[in-house]
Amino acid sequence: MSIFCIALPMGGMRRRDITTFININKPKQKQLQDLVMSFVLRFTYEVAPVFTLMEAVVLERMRHIVGWKDGDGIFSPGGAISNLYGVLTARHYACPDIKQKGLLGKKQLVLFTSEQSHFSILRAASILGIGTDNLVKISCDHRGKMKVAELEEKIIAAKIGGKLPFFVNATCGTTILGAFDPVNDIADVCERHKVWLHVDGAWGGSVLMSKKHRHLLNGIERANSLTWNPHKLLGVPLQCSAFLLREKGIMQQSNEMHADYLFQKDKNYEVIYDTGDKTIQCGRHNDIFKFWLMWRAKGEKGFEAHINRMFELGNYLRELIRKREGFKFVLEKGECTNVCFWYVPLRIREMDDDERKKSELHQATRCIKAMMMENGSLMVGYQPLGEHPNFFRVVISNAAVMEKDLDFLVEEIDRLGRTL
Ligand SMILES: *Cc1c(COP(=O)(O)O)cnc(C)c1O
Repeated sequence: MSIFCIALPMGGMRRRDITTFININKPKQKQLQDLVMSFVLRFTYEVAPVFTLMEAVVLERMRHIVGWKDGDGIFSPGGAISNLYGVLTARHYACPDIKQKGLLGKKQLVLFTSEQSHFSILRAASILGIGTDNLVKISCDHRGKMKVAELEEKIIAAKIGGKLPFFVNATCGTTILGAFDPVNDIADVCERHKVWLHVDGAWGGSVLMSKKHRHLLNGIERANSLTWNPHKLLGVPLQCSAFLLREKGIMQQSNEMHADYLFQKDKNYEVIYDTGDKTIQCGRHNDIFKFWLMWRAKGEKGFEAHINRMFELGNYLRELIRKREGFKFVLEKGECTNVCFWYVPLRIREMDDDERKKSELHQATRCIKAMMMENGSLMVGYQPLGEHPNFFRVVISNAAVMEKDLDFLVEEIDRLGRTL
């Protein structure tokens, strides 16, 4: 494995070729890509030394970008699993004997997240035996940010009710509106009540790479753990998700089972590189190589430029929508590259019955989407949110998108919307 890796024609490749190599579609190159990418990252250093070291170096660099000097981490099969790691590690932190004794006889564990957070937190509550009824959802303001005063009230209420609040999730970059929860204020609450703070930055974590926009995550270094998916905003091919921790040791303690046919402590190298015993897996897919290669090719400057460009495109789309009649924002000042809007056909604009208007708009959005898919012009999604009828959500994360694509998108929605 390591020989193959070193034998790649890195020296002869120009930077652009390397990035192209990662994004290729040509069948022969695709085969090569699959071959390289499918190598399993084994559980011990001796079976995959190069990839193990690549992973260690990249995780360290990511933690450095977060603002952590030390810490730990692992590449996992996606943001949902990284969030599961967050809840799992916090659960171990709150109840260190849980591995041996299980949940029975303990205070009821409760966790907290905003109503607009990702469903994987809810699923983690189910998987880990805490129960979805014990996830407390905190409401959001009109921008989709968690209401921090309510968080503290609900933590206090849970304590009074004899329960054990052990985990708070703050989302940086919500899936729908792209909102950033106020991490500093949430960290204050977590410190006051000694509760683990996890940040779900599956979507917005990559914004840390941009000096211009990273203020959106202010306070991130105060979190205990973080989910950051390079396979989203950074454009790394699926799958590539990191689970990062501020402190070393706890993930190992939480998961280690000491299988003695693999994890002997008297090897002739530092056994911290035997990452297999701190994961919930055994062998893992090699998610690091493509990311490492992209990082080498683009550099941190390249990633920064990529993020800034995505934000520029988001603002460009917002400007198009602002200028055009019939389009209406769900949230005019979105914080990330999510742009959420309605097209309101003329006949609906003229209605005065609000309820009727809502339900017609709900249908109109579905209709426009269906027509686009039927024509094969564009593939877009829609969704409702709370009281809102269905709306379009455009999420920009692809470096190949250009202004003219967004012009076309808006034209097309307008053209189809007018027929309704
Ligand atoms: C996409 C997303 C996830 C899940 O990530 P996967 O890699 O698809 O498992 C979790 N949280 C947020 C905020 C997301 O946007």
